[in-house]
Amino acid sequence: MEDIGILMEKWREVYREKVNSKKRNGEGVTLTPENYFNVIRPFFMKVSPEDKEYVRTFRMVSYGMLEYSPSLRTLILRGAGYNLASRLVESGEIRDIEDLPKVFLNQKIGILDIVDESFNVMKINIYECMSCYKAPPIGRTLCDFEAGLIQGAMEKLIGENVTREIYCWGLGNSFCGFEVIFE
Ligand SMILES: [Zn+2]
Repeated sequence: MEDIGILMEKWREVYREKVNSKKRNGEGVTLTPENYFNVIRPFFMKVSPEDKEYVRTFRMVSYGMLEYSPSLRTLILRGAGYNLASRLVESGEIRDIEDLPKVFLNQKIGILDIVDESFNVMKINIYECMSCYKAPPIGRTLCDFEAGLIQGAMEKLIGENVTREIYCWGLGNSFCGFEVIFE
């Protein structure tokens, strides 16, 4: 993980460009096994060469759920992420906000970057996300599991919040961006 700092800086540049541009989000393309299952994540590939198979398996499950019912998939993945994060806080694996990026890295979910922490809003990005990295612009977000994880962890650590995914490869962006709004 030597060059993760440099990598994060490059990703922040992509994020800044997006935030400053007014380009419309993509849509109209359909998700298929051909354009979704096979992806090479440069950072995680370096960490473990079998990353491609790991992501492929996860996406097979995720795609199956989407095909069966997009709304059920959202509900279940969000709930699963939320419950998991609550458990990780209770078991002490996540003790504070700084532990969240570590868990995301260790479980190879993605590179988590807290870009803004203000009074009642927090902005969190994910790069090379397991759920959506390099996915085509399908006009919807894909990272409900990740959103649930963030929401659950933040609820246990800070308080009740609404977590929304604003940027996603599924929306035509090159990263995921979440907004956590505390009540
Ligand atoms: Zn996403």
